[in-house]
This record gives sequence, C-alpha cells and structure tokens, in this order.
Amino acid sequence: MDRRGFLKLAALTPIAVVAGEASASKPESASGPPPTEFVGMLIDTTRCIGCHACEVACAEENGLPYPDLSRLGPGERQATTTEYTPVSLFETSKGRVYAKRACMHCNQPACASACLCKALEKTKYGPVVWHEDRCMGCRYCMIACPFDVPKFEYDKPIPKIAKCTFCPERLKEGRPPACVEACPQGAVAFGSRRQLLDEARRRVAESPDRYEPVVYGDHDVGGTCVMVISSARPDEIGLRTDLGTRPFPEYTREFLYAVPIVDIILPVLLFGFSRAMAHGNDGGDP
Ligand code: SF4
Ligand code: SF4
Ligand code: SF4
Repeated sequence: MDRRGFLKLAALTPIAVVAGEASASKPESASGPPPTEFVGMLIDTTRCIGCHACEVACAEENGLPYPDLSRLGPGERQATTTEYTPVSLFETSKGRVYAKRACMHCNQPACASACLCKALEKTKYGPVVWHEDRCMGCRYCMIACPFDVPKFEYDKPIPKIAKCTFCPERLKEGRPPACVEACPQGAVAFGSRRQLLDEARRRVAESPDRYEPVVYGDHDVGGTCVMVISSARPDEIGLRTDLGTRPFPEYTREFLYAVPIVDIILPVLLFGFSRAMAHGNDGGDP
C-alpha cells in the first residue's frame, strides 16, 4: 500500500474510531454502543530505508532528547528510557534489513496483567498506556513483558516507566502516531488492526518472493496491535519466535496463584512508600 493508500485506510477507520470516542455526543443505538475496534500499526521492513525519521519524530513528540544515532552499524539497538522506537540494522539470510521496534501493544498484555496498581492499562481502542499517578515503581511490568519493552528511569529521583505510548494525544486529535506520519517510505502504517492484518496478509500472499510467509503479531502471545512483515524470518530481525500463541496473562495468573500474596504486596508497598517519600522530599504532591 502506498502513502495515499495508507491515508485512505487511516481515514476510513482508526482515527475515526478514536476521534469518535473523544466526541461522546454520538447517539447510541437501542442495542448499545457500537463495538470499538483495536487500532494498530503495520511495520513493513521491506520498505524501511533506515532513515530514522520515525525515531526523531517519536523523540520530538514525547519531549525526549535527540536519539543517539552514532552507532548505526549492524546489531540490535534496544529501546531505552529516552528512545522508545530504535531502528536497527540486521544482517539476515535475505540481506540487510532495517526494522523499527517498540512496544507491541499486546492484545492481552502481560505488563498490564502483572501490574497490581493498574498503572498499565489496555485501552479499549488498543494501545497499552501507562498512568504515572497509579505507578508504585515495583517494575513487575518489566519482568512480565515478553518483549523486554518497559524501561525504568533508574537515574531519576522520581523514576517513571518508559515505553512507546502510541501517541494518545495525537489519536484524540484524529492524527496518526508521530512515527507513522514521519516515515517517508510508508514503512509504518496505522489503521484498524483488522484492516492492517488483511493488508499484511495480502502483501505477503501477493509477493512471496518479497516476504517471508509470516505476519508477526497475528497470533503471537495472543496477538498484538503492532504487526511486522519482512523479507527475513522474524528471529533474524530480533523478534522472539519462542513465545507461542497463548496470551501471557494466563501464565501470570498461574504465577499469582502459586506465590503467597504477601510476597507480592510487600515489595509493592515498600516501593510505594519510597516513592511517596521521594515526592515529599521533592516538594511534589504526597
Ligand atoms: S510489548 Fe510488553 S510493554 Fe508492550 S503491551 Fe506487550 S507486554 Fe506490555
Ligand atoms: S506510536 Fe508514538 S510513542 Fe510509539 S513509537 Fe510511534 S511516535 Fe513513539
Ligand atoms: S521513518 Fe520509515 S523508512 Fe525511516 S527508519 Fe523509520 S520506518 Fe524506516
């Protein structure tokens, strides 16, 4: 799909869905409100040229420092507290492939399931967002995430959990995420998850010489709102292929049943106290 095609898709669904949620004046039918579709993102690494415009746009949108682009050789760059969506260059069996990574916005996110404070929330329109005012700093989300996404600001007196937000302010305004808008190649598309999945399957089916026959995120860990297609195998571009299709919260639930509740609650309380103290010392709200 070219850029025009993407804009058409975006106009048809996701932005309209989110914008529709923002304007609560829409009358509901007798049978209740219409179902809300998940929005998503489709990353097509065959279109990515490694320009890093998405990274720069993400930093600007989130008030982060300019990304460190000094090490651009082959090798995976990990997300950090100040770089939510690093673009890495991978040497693969199909040649060099650039791939943008960020939070996968899982359909059933392990991070949200593990968070006892509900600081991470799977919103009804798809993105997984973090609520600063609810976070106790326990970092269970970091341990739970199978993609090693949430990062903790160890260097800050009042640390935050940092990860891709899916640009909620932009979505509310009916605009696509900053990284999507900035990509000059149409390598990142925004739309309803369902339509993006159809688009991904169509591209893969129509161009078997161009793509591996895999839409990553279709079923992995129960499905994710961010999906990836590529000329290379997922494992060659840093995507885990050992996670299965079972949603991770099901494993978390088993863990919670197995561990005495005091072992879980006590660390959370201790972190909460230390965080409250830090707020107090900083002159912030208690
Ligand atoms: S990738 Fe990790 S941080 Fe993102 S939604 Fe999934 S479990 Fe949560
Ligand atoms: S959706 Fe927003 S926060 Fe996430 S990577 Fe793109 S620009 Fe950054
Ligand atoms: S802006 Fe697009 S082409 Fe450039 S690095 Fe990001 S995904 Fe790749």
